[in-house]
Amino acid sequence: MSHPPPAGVERDFPLARLTTLRTGGTADLFARAHDAAALTELLAWARAAGLAVGVVGSGSNLLVADAGVRGLVLKLEGELAQIERDGARLRCGGGARLPQAAARAAREGLSGLEFGVNIPGTVGGAVRMNANAYGGDLSRVLEWAEVVSADGSERRAPEQLGFAYRRSALDPQEVVAGASFVLEAAEPAAVKATLADMRARRRAAQPSGIKTFGSTFKNPADPRAEGRSAGVLLDAAGCRGLELGGARFSEKHANFVENTGEATTAAVIALMSEGRRRVRERFGVELEPEVQLLGDLDAAELYA
Ligand SMILES: Cc1cc2nc3c(=O)[nH]c(=O)nc-3n(C[C@H](O)[C@H](O)[C@H](O)COP(=O)(O)OP(=O)(O)OC[C@H]3O[C@@H](n4cnc5c(N)ncnc54)[C@H](O)[C@@H]3O)c2cc1C
Repeated sequence: MSHPPPAGVERDFPLARLTTLRTGGTADLFARAHDAAALTELLAWARAAGLAVGVVGSGSNLLVADAGVRGLVLKLEGELAQIERDGARLRCGGGARLPQAAARAAREGLSGLEFGVNIPGTVGGAVRMNANAYGGDLSRVLEWAEVVSADGSERRAPEQLGFAYRRSALDPQEVVAGASFVLEAAEPAAVKATLADMRARRRAAQPSGIKTFGSTFKNPADPRAEGRSAGVLLDAAGCRGLELGGARFSEKHANFVENTGEATTAAVIALMSEGRRRVRERFGVELEPEVQLLGDLDAAELYA
């Protein structure tokens, strides 16, 4: 090989277990980056070798192709998954888990990150997806994100990240290696009580203990939706409980797809297409997927 891989790069690495849905194939090449230097080295190598790069956070909003992923898939760990307090700031690695960051902030008596308690993703995934819950706002507390590519590293402020509803303008080959959140001093007990309240509200509204990637479709802005959420529209279009090849729209929340056991990514895509078709026929609304794809997937109909 003209560009030998850095140490630690694995071949044919199964990705399903790195996702919350547990479907999909293997990455041709896979590596865990433990610090910024290793991450830069991997990205520079991938570019020299002409490889596409993908990142997996907690895999909580990810659909991996059954045929796998050509190229290099990265996961951030070690130093790149740490959480540290610095005065009113919480500095998090891109691989740090958002619920852990929210809990740490509460223990430290810092308020502003509570919305992260129910988002089972990483800080990097949350920046990429502009994650949000219960009116919390990532961009309101984000000071900067450290964005690394083969060209090097730079800190970007929220206004440089191109945030829109469940999206950012990050380039696919850019990795969020860390982020700084500026929070407000508060009573730890009060912040913890808010977290407990949010967890309870979430338990009541959404299924737990299932294999899912959370919301399948974004809530539509189309006026024909008349303000109804994607879940309400799917339900009204008869999708609640609908099952195809082991993939099912949840009985508890119609916008959640559940892997009942043996689902493949292809089955999930077929189910999503059917849900989308029903909503289009019933309401004239085109639902747009929220879930991100990794690998070569024939989902042109969904992402048209
Ligand atoms: C039960 C459940 C509830 C959920 N509730 C919410 C909710 O309330 N609000 C909400 O907004 N979302 C919610 N989600 C969706 C999901 O948790 C968020 O989108 C989360 O931000 C995804 O983070 P992740 O680390 O899991 O990313 P992944 O699913 O691993 O990846 C998602 C995308 O981000 C990219 N990515 C991951 N890490 C990085 C990185 N370090 N740098 C650059 N790109 C990266 C991936 O390449 C991919 O394109 C929920 C999911 C589940 C399963």
